[in-house]
Amino acid sequence: MKRRVGGLETEYGLVCVRADGSRALEPEAAARELFRPVVAMGRSSNVFLRNAARLYLDVGSHPEYASAECDDWWELVAQDRAGDRIFADLAAQANQRLAADGQDARIHLLKNNVDSAGNAFGSHENYLVDRRGEFTRLPRYLLPFLVTRQIVTGAGGVVRSAPEDGSFPHRVVNGPDAGAEDADAQFVFSRRSDHMWEAVSSATTRTRPIINTRDEPHGDPTRFRRLHVIVGDSTMSEVSTHLRFATTDLVLRAIESGRALPELALADDIAAIRVVARDLTGTTAIRTAGGGTTTAIEIQQRWLDHVTGFADDSEREVLENWQRAIDAVRTGDRSWAAQNLDWAIKERLFGQVAERRGVGLEDPAIERLDLAYHDIDPTQGVFHALQRRGLAPQMLEEARIEAARTTAPTTTRAHLRGQVVTAAQKHGVDHVVDWTTLRLTRPGAMPVQVLDPFVTELPAVDDLLAEIRSQGTAAPVDPMPFA
Ligand code: ATP
Ligand code: MG
Ligand code: MG
Repeated sequence: MKRRVGGLETEYGLVCVRADGSRALEPEAAARELFRPVVAMGRSSNVFLRNAARLYLDVGSHPEYASAECDDWWELVAQDRAGDRIFADLAAQANQRLAADGQDARIHLLKNNVDSAGNAFGSHENYLVDRRGEFTRLPRYLLPFLVTRQIVTGAGGVVRSAPEDGSFPHRVVNGPDAGAEDADAQFVFSRRSDHMWEAVSSATTRTRPIINTRDEPHGDPTRFRRLHVIVGDSTMSEVSTHLRFATTDLVLRAIESGRALPELALADDIAAIRVVARDLTGTTAIRTAGGGTTTAIEIQQRWLDHVTGFADDSEREVLENWQRAIDAVRTGDRSWAAQNLDWAIKERLFGQVAERRGVGLEDPAIERLDLAYHDIDPTQGVFHALQRRGLAPQMLEEARIEAARTTAPTTTRAHLRGQVVTAAQKHGVDHVVDWTTLRLTRPGAMPVQVLDPFVTELPAVDDLLAEIRSQGTAAPVDPMPFA
């Protein structure tokens, strides 16, 4: 099996409310409060942690955690979950300070993709691909897969029947609401689909493409490219997050093999992604570039069948879960999906709550429930409550997630970065690192470049570690209080 490096960038929604639910602090002020300990340690709101992840404050006051490079998708899930806990702790500390200060204000961090004002933010997947394998060929095959992947890995949610961005009037073509125009709220596989504007582009915010082609490999540019997938939902379920990476990796492997591929290019990816989001049966006809039609289920099934030949034994579970997800849509039998996949867990939960309260999905209580589902506070988040009750999956050992807060993946260059940051923090030595560079800030210090993401040992890094130990202050400083 070919190894691939990948990383996940998660932007969190940030709200700060009073006990009565009204807004207490503007997002900028709340973000400042949240990042206070980070800035105190690193003198900046952009730091690399001992687990080799990057923690920073992006434009628009969305705190972000960019996981370290992983080459195993369960490790990636562990590193991503560790990021949730690091931010949940930062929020808890900020809330303690606000309370001690007598303020009626509580910060919530939401691992979702659309805020209450309808602004979208992201969960960006990064995959290392070979520079030589024609990058321009990727989208043609990858796009139909990504447009329909939401029926497996979407986070689920509720929208008005017309797209949220009002881009075009939409007629409900399937299900009990068939024929209705701009009908009531309805459940969808992914709300983010309405916020996608282009199939492929080098800009991330202005046009929001499904695939971002900005050429920033974070590695040797003659050998590598970094594929940036912008379309995904933030997923709470470890099964959903794992499937996002594992299925996409398999599809990439099939494309890279150079063998014949399913020809499923769509006539209009952006129109299709909105239709697929709304069609919970997965059977609505979508037009192909060749003039025919296909369906979401057909595309996912074709890819699953195709990649089966590229999977090895350790990936049986991925193939099985992928099939179960497709079958849940095809048959309407949600028994497995409603315990494992975010969209189906939510579909069941929203249905139950709406029925109990005698309200429709458009009721504000459902929107609040959706937000609470994504609240990363382990004591307040609805997803975490479902997990404790055995109604949502818990695949990773508790100890593994905890370890990932302070330990980088050991099989990629993240291992080197993690060692340097850990040693530098322990010995109180000023340093700057990024994805490819490790450096001490003393005048004249030479940067160490790590341009191969697979490298885990480097003599120059051993030298750097030795220098850190010898330079270290007699009284080591405490590591960051949150990670
Ligand atoms: P920004 O988000 O600030 O626009 P960016 O896209 O470079 O910049 P970062 O937030 O710094 O993103 O995160 C980069 C992500 O890419 C991380 O999750 C990291 O693990 C991953 N990554 C780093 N190097 C590679 C690589 N060579 N191939 C694939 N993924 C990589
Ligand atoms: Mg980022
Ligand atoms: Mg990015």
